[in-house]
Amino acid sequence: MEEKKELKVDDIKKEAEANACPVQKSLLYIQGFLEGPMCGRCFPCAMGSYEARVRLSAISAGHGSAADIAALKRIAGEMLEASMCKKGKDTARFLAEWMASPEFGAHIAGGVCQSGQCISYIEYRISPDKCTVCGSCKDVCRHGAILGEKKKPWLSGYLPFEIRQKKCTRCGECIKVCPEGAIFITNSAAGQPEGKAA
Ligand code: SF4
Ligand code: SF4
Ligand code: SF4
Repeated sequence: MEEKKELKVDDIKKEAEANACPVQKSLLYIQGFLEGPMCGRCFPCAMGSYEARVRLSAISAGHGSAADIAALKRIAGEMLEASMCKKGKDTARFLAEWMASPEFGAHIAGGVCQSGQCISYIEYRISPDKCTVCGSCKDVCRHGAILGEKKKPWLSGYLPFEIRQKKCTRCGECIKVCPEGAIFITNSAAGQPEGKAA
């Protein structure tokens, strides 16, 4: 029979904190906590962590609401008060700490993931002024999301490449190969370039 590994919240927290976005930190932490496996002996921790995962997933996917934030605060409060062990109480503290960041609330209030880690909140775009129509991005895109024709030296006119947002999976491969730094990440809600390279 497979031996259950012991849940170490500090290890899960360390992995979660490698991410910049507080929503991603919270989601990755709670996923790790539930996979721990979490023992499930007390109700506020057992049910609260499952509900927290659902609500954090919704925020990460771009369809969260103020009700999700309120529910997460309630969950953290109940876990802190009623959890029977340090792991449950620490989990409540970590969630409360990450939720207190203005970046967390900005996902709901402004539709913005400031670190660009929640892919539902971002778009990859090509700057027409910088694109030299080399075609490297189109070659690397496995999703057929890039429109454009490579420059032919004998022709004078050409159009810069474009990204079809409906096909783009935000995998980030194109930004790695563009020799001109012409691809940038923009906030999909506000449409403002963040200037962030992958
Ligand atoms: S608070 Fe501790 S004992 Fe209670 S369910 Fe959570 S991990 Fe188990
Ligand atoms: S981010 Fe990925 S899917 Fe989107 S255009 Fe670039 S390579 Fe294609
Ligand atoms: S890799 Fe960069 S310069 Fe080349 S076509 Fe794509 S966006 Fe333009």
